[in-house]
Amino acid sequence: MSGTRIGFIGLGAMGFHMATRLAEAGYPLAIFDVRKDVLESFQGDDVSIHPSSKEVADHAEIVLASLPSPGVSKEVALGQDGLIHGSRIKIYIDLSTTGESAASEIGEALLSKGIQVLDSPVSGGVPGAQKGTLSIMIAGDKAVYDQCHPMLSRLGSKIFYIGGKVGQAQAMKVINNLLSSAALALTSEAMVLGVKAGLDPSVMIDVLNVSTGRNSATQDKFKQFIINRKFDYGFKTSLAYKDIKLYQDLAEKLQVPLFMGSNIVNFWRYVLTQGGNDEDSTCVIKYIEQWAGVEVAENHKKETN
Ligand code: NAD
Repeated sequence: MSGTRIGFIGLGAMGFHMATRLAEAGYPLAIFDVRKDVLESFQGDDVSIHPSSKEVADHAEIVLASLPSPGVSKEVALGQDGLIHGSRIKIYIDLSTTGESAASEIGEALLSKGIQVLDSPVSGGVPGAQKGTLSIMIAGDKAVYDQCHPMLSRLGSKIFYIGGKVGQAQAMKVINNLLSSAALALTSEAMVLGVKAGLDPSVMIDVLNVSTGRNSATQDKFKQFIINRKFDYGFKTSLAYKDIKLYQDLAEKLQVPLFMGSNIVNFWRYVLTQGGNDEDSTCVIKYIEQWAGVEVAENHKKETN
């Protein structure tokens, strides 16, 4: 398949690295992003730049996308200049987190035009996109999944076939992301408490990571991005909140109560109302630090008020 031109739409924090890995594996690419600067900085031996999603779909049989919101995913797939109007496209692989409803709507519309769809959200963050170690959750036709597996294995080292119905992988993904955001929020609260109690945050993380309190925030975020105050994990608060809302939408649709989840929704909504929208999601701890008057930093004795 590495002779086939692959389309890639959305070269942001995740998409840029994923498209780069495909170019490095020898796939000719057709790319589009609304940001000209990212298109111009993209490196690859055989890369064509196009002015719209439709034109990418005029030049590639398989098109991948990594886009910031369900609305943008719908516009890119089904809008006036959307890939649904492309003349060559046969398979669309959406790597974005769009939620179950948007994925189903996109899937039904494209399938009715004879375009196969793999609903394929990813997890593992920017480092995973860079290294090709993402986990990829995929729903759609099994034969199409089998056909695309070799290419997708350039992007992820853990690829899961979730089911035959487009939208099922999104359900899996938003469940994962609610748990990830809950872990970050609750671990932030616990770390602030520990520091206020006089504990060393670095030692706390060492203890947690070999004890039953360990989670994705203790393992992958606190030492790497929070205690050193770098706050550059690469996943924006606005995107984290989008995924939490998509979880809430799914729960409402399926009439499942959110006793714990609603606290997580409210906490992240609070952060957005305080101006955290464009911050890195690891910054959420700062809002708890402000209440408590301590900083979870290497110099942990520092009091902020
Ligand atoms: P991003 O905002 O950095 O990148 C999105 C890209 O899409 C940008 O380059 C933007 O210019 C482009 N874009 C916006 N509108 C467009 C349009 N109409 N046509 C073409 N391009 C358009 O976002 P990201 O962090 O790369 O995330 C992308 C997706 O991956 C999101 O759905 C996110 O939830 C998901 N995701 C992100 C991470 C992460 O750690 N960043 C991890 C897992 C999943």
